[in-house]
Amino acid sequence: MYHDDLHQAAEFAHAAVASMARFSIPPTPVNFTIWYEYHAGRDPALSHAIDALLASNRPFTPEVTLQLYEEFLNPARMLRASRETTEKLQEAMDELRAYIGAAEQDTRTYGDKLEHFSDKLDNHPAAPSMGALVSAMLQETRVMQQRNQSLEERLAETTAEVQMLREHFEQARREALSDSLTGLANRKNFEQTLTLLAKAAQDSHEPLSLMLLDIDHFKQFNDRHGHQTGDTVLQLVARTLSDNVKGQDLAARYGGEEFALLLPRTRADQAVKLGDNLRMLIAGRKLVKRHTGEELGRITISAGVAEYRTGEALSSLVQRADAALYEAKRRGRNCVVAATEAASDMATEAVLPN
Ligand code: GH3
Ligand code: MG
Ligand code: MG
Repeated sequence: MYHDDLHQAAEFAHAAVASMARFSIPPTPVNFTIWYEYHAGRDPALSHAIDALLASNRPFTPEVTLQLYEEFLNPARMLRASRETTEKLQEAMDELRAYIGAAEQDTRTYGDKLEHFSDKLDNHPAAPSMGALVSAMLQETRVMQQRNQSLEERLAETTAEVQMLREHFEQARREALSDSLTGLANRKNFEQTLTLLAKAAQDSHEPLSLMLLDIDHFKQFNDRHGHQTGDTVLQLVARTLSDNVKGQDLAARYGGEEFALLLPRTRADQAVKLGDNLRMLIAGRKLVKRHTGEELGRITISAGVAEYRTGEALSSLVQRADAALYEAKRRGRNCVVAATEAASDMATEAVLPN
C-alpha cells in the first residue's frame, strides 16, 4: 500500500513520531500507522476524524486509537467495504442496462411505426410534402437508435470490468482467509467459522466437536532435516486432513505445526475415531526426500478433542481441547484424548498425589 519515496516516508514518519510525543501517545505500531497516515494526508475521512478529536481535546486512549484503526486502516474491513461498493456498482449498472435496453426497444417500435406510416402515406394526396417530413423523422429515429446501441455496448464493457473487479476482491478475500503454505483455512478463518458453527450447533441442538492436532517432536525433525523439509511435512499433514474431512467440516492451520478441525454434527467419541484414523494415516507414511531418496523416518501427531457445550464460551472450548492435547502429549504422544477424559484424569491426579 505504501509507495512513498525514502525522503517523503521519512518526513511522514518524523511528523508521526513528533505528534505522538506531543499528545503523549505510546508509539505502538497501530498508533504509528494512524499518525503516519494522518501526516501523509491521503485519507480525508481519517484526517477529519483526528482533527475533530484534537479540536474536542479528547485524549487518545487505546480505545479511541483502536477504533480509528478499525474504521480507517484495518485491511480486512477495507476489503469488505470495497467489495460491497463493487457489488452495489454492479447492481446499479445492471439496472441501467435494463433501462437502456428497454429504451432501445421503445425507439425501435417507434421507428417501425413511423416506417409503416410512411408506407401508407405514399398513396395519400398530401404525400409529396408529408413524405419528406416523415423521412426526416425516420432518419432522426435511426440516429437515436444507433446512439442507444453504442451506449449499451459501452455499458456491457464496463459491466464486464466491474465483474472482473469483483472476482479480484473475491480472490483477495479467499487469500486473506487461507494459509499460504498449506492452503488450509488460516487462524482467522478458523475463528470466524467456529463462531458460526457454534451458533448453528446451539440453534439446532446438534453436536459440534473441535480437534486440535500437533505434530510430535517437530522441532527435532526440523533440526535434523531442515526447515524446508519440515514445511513439506506440514503440507503433507495438511493434505491428509483436508482429504479426510468432508462437507461442512473445516480443516485449519491453527499455528506453526498445530492444526484444528471443526466437526459439526459430530460427537466427541466420533471425533476421537476420526482423530485416530488421521493419526494412523500419518504415522503409517514412510517419509522419503523426493530428490535424494533419503529416508526421513516417520512423524506422528497427537490430538485433543472437545465437544461444544451449549452456551459455553468459545475460549473455554478451545482451552478444553488444548488441555486434552496436552494430556495426549503427556501420555506419550501419537494418541488422541477427549476433553472429558483429560479433565477427569487431571482431577484424579489433583486429589491423588503419587
Ligand atoms: P511436541 O511433541 O511437544 O509438540 O514437540 P515439538 O518439538 O513439536 O513442539 P515445540 O512447540 O517445542 O516446537 C514446535 C516446532 O515446530 C518449532 C518449529 O521448529 C516447528 N515449526 C513451527 N512452525 C513451523 C513452520 O512453519 N515450518 C517448519 N518447518 N517448522 C515449523
Ligand atoms: Mg506445538
Ligand atoms: Mg509439536
